[in-house]
Amino acid sequence: MNSRHKTRSVTIRNIQIGAEAPVSVQSMTKCATSDVPAVIEQTHALASAGCDIVRVAVPDELSARAVELIARESPIPVVADIHFDYKLALITIAGGVDAVRINPGNMRRESHLRAVADAAKAAGITIRIGVNSGSLERSVLRKHGGPTAAALAESALICAHKCEAWGFSDIKLSLKSHDVAQTVAAYRKVAAACDYPLHLGITATGSGLEAKLKSAVGIGSLLLDGIGDTIRVSLSSSPLDEVELGIALLNVLGLRPRGVEFVACPTCGRCKVDLLNHLETIKRQLANIESGICVAVMGCVVNGPGEARQADIGVAFSDDGTANLFRRGKRYAGGPAEQMVERLVADARRLAPRS
Ligand code: SF4
Repeated sequence: MNSRHKTRSVTIRNIQIGAEAPVSVQSMTKCATSDVPAVIEQTHALASAGCDIVRVAVPDELSARAVELIARESPIPVVADIHFDYKLALITIAGGVDAVRINPGNMRRESHLRAVADAAKAAGITIRIGVNSGSLERSVLRKHGGPTAAALAESALICAHKCEAWGFSDIKLSLKSHDVAQTVAAYRKVAAACDYPLHLGITATGSGLEAKLKSAVGIGSLLLDGIGDTIRVSLSSSPLDEVELGIALLNVLGLRPRGVEFVACPTCGRCKVDLLNHLETIKRQLANIESGICVAVMGCVVNGPGEARQADIGVAFSDDGTANLFRRGKRYAGGPAEQMVERLVADARRLAPRS
């Protein structure tokens, strides 16, 4: 993995984004924002699932006014998502929202942008300048001949530079497109040109396996480049699925270990145990572990002992119904496979995360 792209930091309520802060996970509520009890219930569910920051859509004045209570009751910071109407941003800022997201492609008047920047500055909150390929301003589209990666980067930077000129710099940027390669190229361009914290996401991915792959490949490629300070996986499904995938993505990249990372072999003709069954048992029993540890579950002696040694704790099955346990590089127990599975679970629960 490349070293992390250096960014300045901004704070959204108690969550720092950028600089050395861990990469945070965001999602968005999917019920009408004016339905305050439903939104608050979703924010609690998202917080319990490990979400760090939640965004709410603000399509009208009723929603904007609802944000005050939502921000007060939400256990995690709330970002108001504003398009077109700067006055909605002003209402949410006055109501105590933790941050706002604006889209420069549909908030084009400088006086409107400036009013939002001035209000955010007075309230001490962050603005996300969120550019989307589907709503770029006409002048940028004309210059670049369409919504190219360069156009996305330029649109975000023009808006950020205006805010800076007005004395407002608590800014983070996002440049989203449904096209994975284009999104990755846009983020790389903007990262090379500035030190604003970057909010990563692939937009309008849809649902199912393809949607998950788009987010995993796009966001994952950038994170491997060292680019990205906060992420939102967009899926046409429950926001809890978005958080689950976002956390898993950070987990497999070793960026923010939470819970258990499993290393398990795919099994093959050499495997003499019901590895998939053992794996599911171990996963189920370690599902509530908070600490970020790596557990290996391997089917035979070919790669088993090697992989198990490299994990924090691991089991390597043999073909005679026995298994060996390894902990941080050393074999420490061996015996009947069933007993070793039970012992692995008990020992993993006691294991502190690697410092
Ligand atoms: Fe097959 Fe053994 Fe490799 Fe598992 S560890 S895939 S059982 S060779």
